[in-house]
This record gives sequence, C-alpha cells and structure tokens, in this order.
Amino acid sequence: MIRPGQTIGIVGGGQLGRMFALAARRMGYRVHVLDPTPDCPAGQAADSQTTAAYDNLTAARDFAAGVDVVTFEFENVPSRTLAVIEQERPVRPSPFVLDMTRHRLREKTFLSENGFPVAPFRRVTDVYDLAAAIKDLGTPCVLKTAEFGYDGKGQSKIDSPDQAEAAWKALICPLGVLEGFVRFQKEISVIVARNDAGEARAFDPFENVHTHHILDTTICPARIAPELSERATELAKKIAEKIGLVGLLCVELFVVGDDLVVNELAPRPHNSGHLTGDACVTSQFEQHLRAVCGLPLGDTSLMRPAAMANLLGDLWANGDPKWENALADPTVKLHLYGKRSARPGRKMGHLNATGATADEACEAVRRARDALL
Ligand code: AMP
Repeated sequence: MIRPGQTIGIVGGGQLGRMFALAARRMGYRVHVLDPTPDCPAGQAADSQTTAAYDNLTAARDFAAGVDVVTFEFENVPSRTLAVIEQERPVRPSPFVLDMTRHRLREKTFLSENGFPVAPFRRVTDVYDLAAAIKDLGTPCVLKTAEFGYDGKGQSKIDSPDQAEAAWKALICPLGVLEGFVRFQKEISVIVARNDAGEARAFDPFENVHTHHILDTTICPARIAPELSERATELAKKIAEKIGLVGLLCVELFVVGDDLVVNELAPRPHNSGHLTGDACVTSQFEQHLRAVCGLPLGDTSLMRPAAMANLLGDLWANGDPKWENALADPTVKLHLYGKRSARPGRKMGHLNATGATADEACEAVRRARDALL
C-alpha cells in the first residue's frame, strides 16, 4: 500500500495528470511529474517536475528512483523508458496493459481472442493489403493508425475503394487496422477501477457526443435501458479483470440496437469521466489514486444527473472567453487546465453542470458554453 505522505510519479503532464495531481495532493500525497514541457498543466499542480524528453532514459531512471509508485496519464511512452522505470519502482497499470492498449492492433486482437465484441477488423501493412481488406469488409469502413492516434488523428473513413491510397497516406505509422463501419445509435463509455486485491467498481455509463472525432459533450446517466447499462458495466469489469488491471480503465462502446461493440480502451482517467468530479461521490481521479495506491475504492454513485462540455481552443479566437457569463448559472462549474496558448481543437478546459435530469444538465452546460462568446 502506498500511503498519504508518500510520492506518486506520473508520466505525462497534461490535463489528466493535472486533475490527478490535485486529487492526490488533497489526500496528502506528494506528486512528481515527468514531462518534456516546462510549466505543463500537471507540473503546475504537482510538487515537482522532471523536465525531460520521454526517451531520456537517465532522466526516467532518476524520476522513478525519486517516487514510490509510477502511473501514467497517456500511453505513448517508449517501451525502453517503461522498462527503465519498471526496474526502479512498481508501475500501475502494468506495462503489459499499457503496451496492449496503446496499440490498436494488439488491443483489438486481445479483445476478440478473449471473446469481447469488437467491429470486424483486418491488419494492413501496405496499400495492396488495404485493397484486399476493403474488399473483404466492404465499404464504408474506417482505417486507423495502429499507434500514436488520438482524437481521430491518423484515421480515415473509406466510402469507396478508390479512396484507399489517400487513406493509407494519412496514417501516422506504417501499420493500420481496417475496421468495418459500425452504424451505432449512441456512443457510451464505462470507467472502471480495480485494485490489486481484485476489488472492482464502475461508474454508471456516460453518454458521449463527438464533433470532428473530438469529445464534445458527456451526460450521465446515459439515456439507455437499465438492462443495457448493467451489461455495459459488467463488460467493462470483465475486461478489467481479464487484463489484470490495477488502476482505472475507460471502455468506449458503440450501442447498436441491443448490442454493445467495444471501440477502444484507455487505461487511465478519461475525458468522458470529467463530470465525476462535480457529480459523483468519488471523482475518477481519486478513484485512480485509490486503485494505484492499493487503498479501498470509493463509492461511484452519481449524486445528481450531470453533463460536461469541453472547451476547445477555438473559443479563444477573439480573446479570452467571458467566464462570468458561463458562471452566471450557479449550477455550472469551470475547470481550466493552465495551458498558455489556445489553438483550434486543443482541449483547454471543460464546464460541468448538474440538473434535475441529464437533459436539463446538458442544456445548462451548452447554454453556458455558448454564453462564453
Ligand atoms: P476512435 O479514435 O477510435 O475513438 O474514434 C473516434 C470516433 O470515430 C469514434 O468516437 C466514433 O465516433 C468514430 N468511429 C471510430 N471507429 C468507428 C467505426 N468502426 N465505425 C463507425 N464510427 C467509428
């Protein structure tokens, strides 16, 4: 067990690390961040930061030696760095989980081999492979980069075989996964925590709406049948158990009629769980901390229906947004990540709101975001 007063090392200095650091410090832990950017969002909220590139193995070793346990806020860490850190201190979730979930092909293969429902997929290594795979799966289909993709980057929808070459060129790494197109009615996610004693607790499913592949709004409870909600939660717990998770796992799912299809796994706090901080007994960040430290897990109950709206850099196009307009609604909470420059599409912060129903909360949070301009 890692006790309050001990030091948590977190690799990655973005907003997820920042909110995790705030939750950890509130409970009396010390937090040390590893990130190449000085004064990064998590570094601002932590006790200390090692400012070094992720492939700087000496810095990674020194960083690990100075903490009691290491966790991650993103998965794209070089394997050699992971190996060096693992030699020094316990890594939670395990390198196996990180290595599998950061690679779409390994992730999809693991899920399908273990009987979890995924869209049909094919491994593709060049345009000829791709042409054959398109023939196999039919159009439309979606080509995704096996590594380094996020928020729809390195991903293309293919509507006809003549788009294959352009889609191949848009890949980030020279290995792709072609997926059958899923005609879903809704996108939901389940965030589940598991500690090393095997105790698992999940939050109720979140209902997510994406715009241009980036999460736009989340509401909870999701507007799905209670039976489906229960099945989604059970599915996430089973995946967590199968991978031997210690920490937090977000399972992104498509709802297709009465069925669920797993889209993606993320072994860390997730954007769709940001409303837990203002609406649940335990936030996803505190839950991740409890799981990583071997503490009993917190109650995940939703205290009030809630909604979250992301604030992207586009909102800064004409200067600082008018925060006082959003906060004029007393149910609205503002979260900003301390990023110095706002670029279109960059996640700068989010708004949470609670209400009598999820729809009411969603209306409030959208109204507040519109009022920023
Ligand atoms: P991802 O990067 O895999 O999370 O995908 C980003 C978004 O693209 C998802 O949230 C979906 O809206 C959409 N998408 C991804 N894969 C598929 C698919 N196989 N069929 C239909 N839509 C998809």
